[in-house]
Amino acid sequence: MPPICLSFDNGPEPGTTPGVLEVLARRGLAATFFVVGQQLRAPAAFALAERAKAEGHRIGNHTLTHGAPLGRRSAAEAVAEIAETDALMGALHGPERLFRPNGGGGLLGPHLLNAAALRHLVAHRHTVVLWNAVPGDFRDPDGWPDTARAMIDAAEEPVLLVLHDRPNGAMRHLDRFLGGLIDAGAIFTQEPPDACVPLRRGVDQGDVARYVTEDSP
Ligand SMILES: [Zn+2]
Repeated sequence: MPPICLSFDNGPEPGTTPGVLEVLARRGLAATFFVVGQQLRAPAAFALAERAKAEGHRIGNHTLTHGAPLGRRSAAEAVAEIAETDALMGALHGPERLFRPNGGGGLLGPHLLNAAALRHLVAHRHTVVLWNAVPGDFRDPDGWPDTARAMIDAAEEPVLLVLHDRPNGAMRHLDRFLGGLIDAGAIFTQEPPDACVPLRRGVDQGDVARYVTEDSP
């Protein structure tokens, strides 16, 4: 079984994130939480992100509004989605400023970024963290653990798994899911696989252009 990197997107969510943090603490696992900027305006949600960081998790920027993917937005809108979230995050960022675009159902492609967004990410030395396993907990709150396990069992490369700390009930299966992996000898890592990081500290790792739509005039 390849190493597994855990990520939780679209929070923080006061009804769900605390339970996820408790499961991760009990299992001794460190993850990355990619937060939606506008949700940080709620003090309870911001406090949850601070708690996650204090408990050893990494916090990354997952756009301000999680609206249309940035490749389908104007230059100014795309940059604002990133920059305003960074401002709201403040000290939640670690030494490496992590950014994950939203894909619209987990799809990878040039719709993820536009040229202005990429220029901003390069100028501010961001690391872009994508994914390679999206088991669909957002649409299948009870079936995702089996889907995720099948993805992991079939994988030959390190797995970057995307789950969501959203209030649809999916995370009630998290402890059992992780327990099954631990029992099977899984190795977890907080480091995203290189194949899922097209931009590292602002430097193109070779294929970032695959995720960029050129700006419309
Ligand atoms: Zn998302």
